[in-house]
Amino acid sequence: MDSPQIFVYEASDDESDASVDLAAQVGEVGIQAPFVVSSMHGQRLALRTAAAGATVTPPSGATKHYSIELGAHIRRSRADGVVAVGGGRVLDVAKLAAARAGLTLIAVPTQLSHDGICSPVAVVPDDSGMTQSLGAIPPRTVYLSIPTLVKAPVASVRAGLGDLMANPLALRDWALASERGLASTDQRAWDLSAQSFDMIQGYLSRDASEFAHDPKFLRHLADALVMSGMSMIISGTSRPASGAEHEISHAIDALFGGRALHGAQVAFGCIVSVALYGEDFGAFRRQLALVGLPHHPRELRLTEGDVVRVILESPETRPGRFTIIEEANLDEAGALKLVRRIWGSANGC
Ligand SMILES: [Zn+2]
Repeated sequence: MDSPQIFVYEASDDESDASVDLAAQVGEVGIQAPFVVSSMHGQRLALRTAAAGATVTPPSGATKHYSIELGAHIRRSRADGVVAVGGGRVLDVAKLAAARAGLTLIAVPTQLSHDGICSPVAVVPDDSGMTQSLGAIPPRTVYLSIPTLVKAPVASVRAGLGDLMANPLALRDWALASERGLASTDQRAWDLSAQSFDMIQGYLSRDASEFAHDPKFLRHLADALVMSGMSMIISGTSRPASGAEHEISHAIDALFGGRALHGAQVAFGCIVSVALYGEDFGAFRRQLALVGLPHHPRELRLTEGDVVRVILESPETRPGRFTIIEEANLDEAGALKLVRRIWGSANGC
């Protein structure tokens, strides 16, 4: 599969100018009748692209069912492409809807909080509220409006970094599964995942608030997230960017309805992987604290017992996936011992 086209708008710091440019780029890639799926925050940027009757703002709890219905609606509307302007949920809903409608997708992220910007996976809840990772079409084009991205909250940038911190650990998990004969690795995908982490590694020794609004950094982060998404596209699996740390995050979602942005929960989950691999989890926790990511269960309002439940639940979130968590195969006593080894005794949580 070809790499997505990346457009970057940075000619002015006025989002209205970016809105005009986005509409022009949509035409440039051959979409004459776009259907716009936009968040509330994305409406200003989408203004010049959205035509009356061909735009929607999904509700915050938009489900898989909603996305499929939206896809059918878009197909009936005779649109010839979908433009998604917003955060993770809007992009995920639009990915599923575009796949259903059989149309190409332009992703216009309004924040850089995870590598789903450019992945073939859409994470949306089912009718019962449980999130599911579903196969969808990746965007053909990614449009980055720097005047929009510089206004995004620091927390979203921290989460974007957190999602990429998973990659080296996800690769170790992938290699482990391969050693056990349970997966086969793909060198090109492996390299892309590793490189995407290398691109942001230099930003992991400072508080992200120091550079979160710097256009140069945002370009780096966007490139790294797109590259990480590409590693999943070409390998046909999320494995190069998703291992045990993602299972931990999915378990927090399943048990507690989510306690932070995906990338922040993933960064927290990395601590468990680092400890299970016998590496220096203390140093890793200090790095998370420096960047401003959760390094202690209390930052996610989790108790010691909650984290034990999360660890025990995590293999259930991705049946068939083999990571260091499945390798460790912890029972309740083992999980409690691990939690206390990382964070100290019960009073510490
Ligand atoms: Zn992720």
